[in-house]
Amino acid sequence: MSEQVKVIVFHNNAGAKEPCGGCGIPWRPRCGPELFTMDLQPICSQCAEKYASPELLAMYKAYWQIVGVYEEEHNPVIAGEA
Ligand SMILES: [Zn+2]
Repeated sequence: MSEQVKVIVFHNNAGAKEPCGGCGIPWRPRCGPELFTMDLQPICSQCAEKYASPELLAMYKAYWQIVGVYEEEHNPVIAGEA
């Protein structure tokens, strides 16, 4: 059982590695509009799929696909095959 984590978008300009606010793994958010908890802990890609609303997740993925780093950073195998 896991409690629901509220996910917000915050403009990250630090890029420091911190524990994910959902699962606690070390996670380095990219600079730009990234996903965070209400108290500004970063949200890893697995927790994003789990906790972010579908519409927020869709916009988030679309943004990072457009800037070209979402697939590279989150699906290195797929990016490598392309
Ligand atoms: Zn996580």
